[in-house]
Formats: sequence, structure tokens, C-alpha cells
Amino acid sequence: MMGRDLLGIEDLDRADLERILETAERMQEVGRRDVKKVPTLRGRTLVNLFFEPSTRTRTSFEIAGKRLSADVVNFSPSSSSLTKAESILDTAMTLDAMAPDAVVVRHKVAGVPKRIADALAAPVINAGDGAHEHPTQALLDCFTVKQEKGRFDGLTVTIIGDITHSRVARSNLYAFSKLGAEVRLAAPPTMLPAGVESLGAKAYTSLREALEGADVVMVLRIQQERMEGCFFPSIREYAATFGIDRKKLRYAKDDVIVMHPGPVNRGVEIAHDLADRRPSVILDQVRNGVAVRMAVLYQFAGRPATREG
Ligand code: ASP
Repeated sequence: MMGRDLLGIEDLDRADLERILETAERMQEVGRRDVKKVPTLRGRTLVNLFFEPSTRTRTSFEIAGKRLSADVVNFSPSSSSLTKAESILDTAMTLDAMAPDAVVVRHKVAGVPKRIADALAAPVINAGDGAHEHPTQALLDCFTVKQEKGRFDGLTVTIIGDITHSRVARSNLYAFSKLGAEVRLAAPPTMLPAGVESLGAKAYTSLREALEGADVVMVLRIQQERMEGCFFPSIREYAATFGIDRKKLRYAKDDVIVMHPGPVNRGVEIAHDLADRRPSVILDQVRNGVAVRMAVLYQFAGRPATREG
């Protein structure tokens, strides 16, 4: 049985992941209907508490909540009392006093969703905390791979880019490994954390070796907002050695798919023409994000909001 909050993939087991992916399949069917709405969360309130910028995740949670008939409130820090020095915890507790049924939190500092979860009655869903975890991104990535490949066992998933600062890399490493895939991480040595192999991944500094025989290639943005100092000589050099284009992709399997969580920096980590067309499935990931977040909200916002027991 899953806990009350969704703070990270690390806390889930294979059966939890499979259950969410199966629910997402049913939710996806709602998105194909003429009237894209079901009464599942009618009378329930969802608060989106995003302290860090977001395009896909915030809108995706909002659409997911609305498709389930929940009332969705988007909290915007720049127009709130946070500008009057109210603390994050006081802000969260104030919102909690209005009895939401779930609070979706994004923050630039790792661990803030957990801290908020400890103080609130409502279940907390982590929408990305610093370089720690981004569980719903990993779930939608797994969902996309399942739709494309029909399985996880025996697949090789190569994640390329700024592994050190990427919460997407961390959550996907947990998710794909738990589901039975082999995970490879490829980056310049400065962006590959020491000891990452103890989490079950294989680490590569040679892009070619990491790509050989890959079924799935996941490309990550360089998280410059989380970097202090210089991690590579120049963007041009990074693009030449670790940027993915159709030529480099030839080392992977013929039926490889290319994924990216967005936002995409075209011409840096991924070539312009590759981002837009097959084998890239970037917009499928965005589309699937709604169904997966509906499944997550169904699982975590559908229960009474108390922390007893
Ligand atoms: N959108 C993803 C995240 O919030 C990936 C990225 O920003 O590069 O982590």
C-alpha cells in the first residue's frame, strides 16, 4: 500500500508503479472523449503550490484535476504574502487550514515537499524538489515507454546529460530500474555524481558506449540554475560531444525512441530536427502527463485528508 504522500519514486515498489501506470491507461481514455470529464474528484479541492517556474507540470496537474472534476486553485508566490516574508511553512499551513484534499508542491530546494507534508493534513504530491526527485515526470516517462515498447524487462534506457543536478534523472533511475529495465547514465565526468552505480545504474563518460544497443534515449537539459561554477568548457563543446543528433543515434537500436522532459534547449542537448519528429516522442510525453497525473490524483487526492493512524 502506498503512503499518503507522493514524495519520490524511491518510496514506491514495482507493484505501486504498475498500479499507477494501469490507472493512467484508464484515465487516458477519458482524454479521448468528446466531453473530457469524469466526476471522480467532484467536491474535492486541489492546490498547486509552485515556488519554482513550470510550464508543463503545473498546467498538466491543473488539467488533470479539472478532468476529474476537482476544484483547482493555483497559488502564485509572486503575488502572495511570501513577498511580505511569510515563511513557506506558514503559507502551506494557511492553505491547509482551507481544507484542500491534496497539495502539489514544487520548490527549488530538495526536501521542501517532505517538510510541508510533515506539517499538513492534506496529502502532498512532489512536483519537483531541487535536484532530488520529480516523481510524476518519471511516471509519465515510464507510461510513454510502456506504450511504445509494451514492456520494461530487457530494455536499455540511456539517460544523457546533467545527471548531477537532474531530479528527472534520479526519479527515472529509480522508476525504470524497479520496473526491470537496465539504466545507463551518460555525461561528462563533472556531471556524473560519484557513487551513482550503487543506485543500480551503469555510468558512462563515452556517449557512444552508452548509446550502443539502447532502446530508449532520454536527453536532459543542463540545469544551469542549479550550477555553481563551470562544469564544462563551453556550450558548443558540450553540444558536439554529448548533444544528440540523428548521426549519433545510429549507435542505438534501429527502433530507439528519444525522450526529453522539457524545456528543450535546441541545438545544445538535442538537434533541432530531432526534437520535432520521430523517433522523438517529446509531445507524447506531455500528452501522457495528463493521464498519469489524473491517476496520481485519483490515488492520492481521493482519500480523506487527515494524518491519523
Ligand atoms: N522540467 C523538468 C524539471 O522540472 C526538467 C528540466 O527542467 O530540465 O525538472
